[in-house]
Amino acid sequence: MIEWSEQHQMIRDAVRRFMEAEIEPNLEELEHGDTPPYDVLRKMFQTFGMDEMARSRFAKQLEGAGEKKEGESGGRGDAVAMQLIPIIELCRYCPGMVTAMGVSVGLTAGAILSKGTRAQKERWALDLLTLDKVGSWAITEPDSGSDAFGSMKSTARRDGDDGYVLNGSKTFITNGPHADTIVFICKLEEDGVAPADRKVLDFVLDRGMEGLTQSKPMRKMGLHSSPTGELFLQDVKVGRDRLLGETEEKGARSGAKGTFSIERAGVAAMSLGIVERCLELSLAYARERVQFGRPIGEFQLIQDKLARMEVARMNLQNLVFRQVEMAEAGRSTTLAEASAMKLYAARAANEVALEAVQIYGGNGYMSEYRVEQLARDAKVLQIYAGTDEIQISAIARSLLAG
Ligand SMILES: Cc1cc2nc3c(=O)[nH]c(=O)nc-3n(C[C@H](O)[C@H](O)[C@H](O)COP(=O)(O)OP(=O)(O)OC[C@H]3O[C@@H](n4cnc5c(N)ncnc54)[C@H](O)[C@@H]3O)c2cc1C
Repeated sequence: MIEWSEQHQMIRDAVRRFMEAEIEPNLEELEHGDTPPYDVLRKMFQTFGMDEMARSRFAKQLEGAGEKKEGESGGRGDAVAMQLIPIIELCRYCPGMVTAMGVSVGLTAGAILSKGTRAQKERWALDLLTLDKVGSWAITEPDSGSDAFGSMKSTARRDGDDGYVLNGSKTFITNGPHADTIVFICKLEEDGVAPADRKVLDFVLDRGMEGLTQSKPMRKMGLHSSPTGELFLQDVKVGRDRLLGETEEKGARSGAKGTFSIERAGVAAMSLGIVERCLELSLAYARERVQFGRPIGEFQLIQDKLARMEVARMNLQNLVFRQVEMAEAGRSTTLAEASAMKLYAARAANEVALEAVQIYGGNGYMSEYRVEQLARDAKVLQIYAGTDEIQISAIARSLLAG
């Protein structure tokens, strides 16, 4: 694949028109007001039939297409393109909205779909896939970030034959303040088993359960359209029906690799949106801003920045096309490949966005010119879904093992 097909381009243009009509005029409110992103996202889902597509994919999945082997599940290129195009287009204006959407649809519903029983999927996953409900996926804790499993303190204590009592606190949780459905990841209290070796389990919680507190949104550097919060659990009683898979044997460690791969690969599409927009804005400014009697685009140092932005854009687009091609061929991304994509993409988005600020000079530092927001938003790509340093170790470990 060397470019978007005509059909992809038509969809992209329609999505872009939606962004220009629905998001761009409301950016101030979404970024700095108290408007959560969910209603606009729902409108986007309805406008482009993404909710209907989610329903039909869900129905097919339940019908039990079954476990497919590598290569057998091909022909999904268009479906993946349809998921990536809105991500790219949203990120041109509002990367936070992608985070809010991705965590709900990709991570929370994804975890339930990959490990839940049929009853659990029907109970929670569909409403998340259509964005009728908002989801959170909670692994990070105040003392456990990169070493998510090793330092985890949240616990599940067995309670009678069929229940558990959950305790712990989570932080930096996307959608945490508004989530209706939460996947809470914790360790099983087991006598005689060292904490590091204890089973890691995931439970599904509903907003309003006794003992569950969801904080207000935390204040942060950027990504303001994605609410981030803390969760506190004090003796939350749950039945086995809330344990994903309804068995302690389907631990969270096993599914985590798949989850990490999905979110890491998604960062390439996010970065492409940021880079495309920064390049467009930079080109426009380089043409119109005159200093020393010439448009600044005539200065070689500015040209160097523009050229590097174009190189990053081409590379990111190729990474996105690669994902579409792989889905078409029925291949999935390995964790190391996804880590390599994320590392490159996050760094590229940050370099490009900061250079865009530089091209704009003092205006670049002002919120009125959009590059300031994109630069603040891009930073998180090097932190969440595994920091740059963690991607580097994942890539190197895989190379050395190979
Ligand atoms: C906006 C936002 C949204 C988020 N959303 C969610 C969410 O929805 N759900 C969720 O569970 N979490 C979420 N997170 C948490 C995120 O995944 C963590 O912040 C991230 O994994 C890093 O963990 P930490 O913040 O504890 O940093 P730490 O792990 O404390 O790292 C601090 C520094 O040390 C470095 N470091 C750590 N270990 C190593 C090592 N072995 N080698 C080299 N360097 C190392 C790190 O790279 C980093 O530079 C979110 C975070 C943010 C900022």
